[in-house]
Amino acid sequence: MSAFHLTILTPEHAFFEGDAEAIAFPTVDGLFGVLPGHQPEVVILTEGALRITIGGVTREAAASDGFVTILPESVTVILQTAEWPEDIDRRRAEEARREAEEALRQRQSQREYALAKSMLARAMVRLRVTKGGIRK
Ligand code: ATP
Repeated sequence: MSAFHLTILTPEHAFFEGDAEAIAFPTVDGLFGVLPGHQPEVVILTEGALRITIGGVTREAAASDGFVTILPESVTVILQTAEWPEDIDRRRAEEARREAEEALRQRQSQREYALAKSMLARAMVRLRVTKGGIRK
């Protein structure tokens, strides 16, 4: 199966480096899928699940906002945060969700509101990808 070189970086670590057959990532317009040979492009990512196909197996990872540079033979994803489901602490995500929901109920500045919305989105994605299985 043909592949491209995939690099996924966060400020904390190299989350993934290796060959992949496909990747799909969340954007404001929905899932954006990339196969080998894709035309060069830069795409902005929103919070959501990355779907990465390696060796014929597709896995999800929780991702927060960032951007992707696509070339025919390589894809580089730069994100604030990324986690495989098995590395996610569900209780922490539940707590973050409660905290974000509480913050959204408070009267606040636009910036605080945006931060709370983004925190809620990250928590929801973490809870979703740890629920098990890829939803079609
Ligand atoms: P919290 O309030 O629980 O810290 P947060 O939304 O403020 O959540 P982030 O800024 O999204 O946290 O992430 C900070 C770091 O913690 C990143 O390295 C991220 O991968 C990690 N992280 C955040 N939440 C979880 C979680 N539930 N399980 C595992 N790692 C997490």
